[in-house]
Amino acid sequence: MAQQPFLERILISEEQLATRVQELGRQISADYRGKKPLFVGILRGCILFYSDLIKNVSVDCTLDFMCLSSYSGTSSTGHVRTMLDLRESIQDRHVIIVEDIVDTGLTLEYLQNHLKDRGAASIEICCLLDKPANRKVEVHPKYVGFTIKDEFVIGYGLDYNELYRNLPYIGVFKKQ
Ligand code: 5GP
Repeated sequence: MAQQPFLERILISEEQLATRVQELGRQISADYRGKKPLFVGILRGCILFYSDLIKNVSVDCTLDFMCLSSYSGTSSTGHVRTMLDLRESIQDRHVIIVEDIVDTGLTLEYLQNHLKDRGAASIEICCLLDKPANRKVEVHPKYVGFTIKDEFVIGYGLDYNELYRNLPYIGVFKKQ
């Protein structure tokens, strides 16, 4: 691939992503047999991961989305806002939150507290990437694609100022 000015290096290739996402889909399918889970995708970072994940889920499931915002540029603002809420009730549902990356954990802490009050039967987190070095609050994703170092990454849904979400791999962003 030609050298890209915004890219330090490729961290996780398209092939590695496909293999791991397939494994996660199989694991979730085994864990949720007979439960009809509700996959709640957190927009917009989840989009590629979410669509590849659910293609690998073999149990009946339903889909919904939320849009939260906490990041500006390459750092977390710490303030989480709900820009788009769920369409369906989650009362008595087995909810699987699908998130691109857990960094400080503030977004998911906010979301878990917010959803707990709505009567879900269970809530678990499935994240593609986990960056534990930067954690500010305790959040424990049950399903993790890859654990990575504290580097700002882009691609496969992840952006820098809304760019690069369409890259088919995960790369380390090169600061100019
Ligand atoms: P947290 O609340 O855990 O600090 O951050 C969660 C959100 O911050 C993620 O959903 C993601 O949108 C953004 N984020 C955290 N780390 C990165 C990163 O390395 N790259 C990108 N593009 N976004 C990140």
